[in-house]
Amino acid sequence: MQLPQASVFATLLLLPLTVTAGTVESLRNCKCQPYLPCWPSKSDWQKFNSTIGGMLIAGIRPISSACYEGPGYNKVRCDEVTKDFGDSIWRANQPGAVQHTTWETYSPLEESCPLPSLLTDGTRKQCKQGSVPQYAVRARNAQDISTAVKFATKHSIPVVIKNTGHDFLGRASRRNALLIWTHFLRDISFENQYGGWEPAGCKGDKYKEKELLVKAEAGVMVFELAKAVSKKGRTVVAGAASTVGVVGGFLQGGGHSPLGVWKGLASDHAVEFEVVLADGSIVKASACTNPELFWALRGGGGSTYGVVTSVVLRTHEDVSFVQYALNVTIPILPNETPGTANDTFWELVNRWHTMAPAVNDLGGSGYYFLVTNFLVPEPKVTAHVFVGYLFFFGQKDTKGVEKLFKPLNDWLYKAVGTPESGLVSPLISPPAPATGYLGTLATTLYGQGGTAILGSRLLSRELLSTPSGVQKSTDALRDIDYLGGFILGHYVTPGPKPVDSAAHSAWRKAITHIVVTNNWEQGASFERQDEIKSLMTDFMVPRLKKLDYDTKTGKQTMGAYVNESDKEELTWQDSFWGEKYGRLKKIKARYDPNGVFWCKPCVGSEDWDLDGICKVPR
Ligand SMILES: Cc1cc2nc3c(=O)[nH]c(=O)nc-3n(C[C@H](O)[C@H](O)[C@H](O)COP(=O)(O)OP(=O)(O)OC[C@H]3O[C@@H](n4cnc5c(N)ncnc54)[C@H](O)[C@@H]3O)c2cc1C
Repeated sequence: MQLPQASVFATLLLLPLTVTAGTVESLRNCKCQPYLPCWPSKSDWQKFNSTIGGMLIAGIRPISSACYEGPGYNKVRCDEVTKDFGDSIWRANQPGAVQHTTWETYSPLEESCPLPSLLTDGTRKQCKQGSVPQYAVRARNAQDISTAVKFATKHSIPVVIKNTGHDFLGRASRRNALLIWTHFLRDISFENQYGGWEPAGCKGDKYKEKELLVKAEAGVMVFELAKAVSKKGRTVVAGAASTVGVVGGFLQGGGHSPLGVWKGLASDHAVEFEVVLADGSIVKASACTNPELFWALRGGGGSTYGVVTSVVLRTHEDVSFVQYALNVTIPILPNETPGTANDTFWELVNRWHTMAPAVNDLGGSGYYFLVTNFLVPEPKVTAHVFVGYLFFFGQKDTKGVEKLFKPLNDWLYKAVGTPESGLVSPLISPPAPATGYLGTLATTLYGQGGTAILGSRLLSRELLSTPSGVQKSTDALRDIDYLGGFILGHYVTPGPKPVDSAAHSAWRKAITHIVVTNNWEQGASFERQDEIKSLMTDFMVPRLKKLDYDTKTGKQTMGAYVNESDKEELTWQDSFWGEKYGRLKKIKARYDPNGVFWCKPCVGSEDWDLDGICKVPR
């Protein structure tokens, strides 16, 4: 929607610097803001509320505001916020929170609302709105979402979609936006129980009787889906963290899973979506109806093409799996030559990655953590800690896994400590049904409320298939580790089976997904936050990017997983989508030509200023 002429000059003063060089004509392509006359009046909001059954929440404040002196102080609420601050499920139920406090702040104006009891530097902070939207629609169904999209479009209000708020790039928060909150759409049902079900628009492409499909609404979380599907004796490719949403950012970003090496990305298994488009229409997307949209929704990123209200996913047979767990503690002893413990630790990392192709060939998936200079509570000693747990789906006995890990275990007993020392604990569990595993996954909860930022890279199988490639990656990880945070490896890549979707093609060549993390203390100054962010963007990520790299063209040959990466990643279009970016941009232009949906870094976001308020003049 265009701004009224009268407000153009007021807007000129208030708009971000990126557009001041533009023409007046370009300013017409701006979203409305609360300080402009185009913003809906109180009565507009009231009327809107009545069209969605009273599901509008107005006047939302950041969760910690209840703990600040003044008219908003509320002791009961403050006690609740303090108690549940790190509880992921509680956070997902708050309109004024996301999972990581990083994204509740608004750094250009240095606005935040830290929980006073967590401030360690003795400063008294103020509570400011930051990036927490003041209005939210707690959607009950697709119709509420359609009404909200139409209202936002009519008044040209920025929109943000939130499900659980887990996003590591802050794409579920947006200052001065109308929040469309999908988290309470939680129905799970089964399709094709008797065979014959067809995706929308498909004729003669019926599913066989045994191929049970599950339909999940937008707010369903991993643990709910895993529980429902395993009750039917089936498995489903979903994430490893119980409270992440399945249908929102996870699936639309591609979605990796411990079942990935066996079955592929989660989005490879979507067969039909229901979506509210930018014009408010409610449509289906499948291989036969809106096929381009269907292609884009499987990996092209959330919050870009529409609001997905449900998805139909394939489920799979139950299968036995063998688990290998490894826990290594390398203490740094007072009389040790500096660096000795470190060398052993990095040799372990080198050996681990040297084995990656063989682990992959045996169908191994799972996770490993590299934590250096860690204060182990018992015995109280600083140590380098390596923890890995891998799953080998389809293994009926432990023989193959034992044989694979024997050389590594033998080396660890010599280099670090005997099995009795307690410093090296490899454990191979007997075969168990995968449905049982999904059941335990369902009960694992993750603490949230921190300030994590990430950077990442998909490393190619080719790189880790040569000693020099492995050594190069160890050297890079060692350099990065020196700067802080911790490193997490994921054997979750889906292998080369071609699936035509928007997910980066690097996934099909990758063998591991390396994530590096960093954070800062609650309430840290914005200057300090910027220093840490810049370390990630300017050093850590480029160091990883150079691993799979063509020195002749000067270009990366792999990429990164959009959902677990650095928000400030340079050349993000190439890093997250590679050669698919051009097609994705055309689909964006077709389904959302006016940029009703915007987030950063998301397809098409480069056409807007840094807050997605005004179109960048061309
Ligand atoms: C503890 C933890 C563990 C994780 N584990 C895994 C893992 O095992 N595998 C993996 O692949 N990823 C994992 N992730 C990353 C995860 O995929 C992303 O954080 C993802 O964005 C979360 O999606 P969400 O819908 O739950 O979160 P939100 O933050 O609510 O949404 C994320 C993005 O999707 C958009 N969005 C949400 N719902 C919709 C919708 N219905 N329609 C359109 N857009 C929507 C939002 O606007 C936002 O841009 C993990 C993250 C965390 C914090």
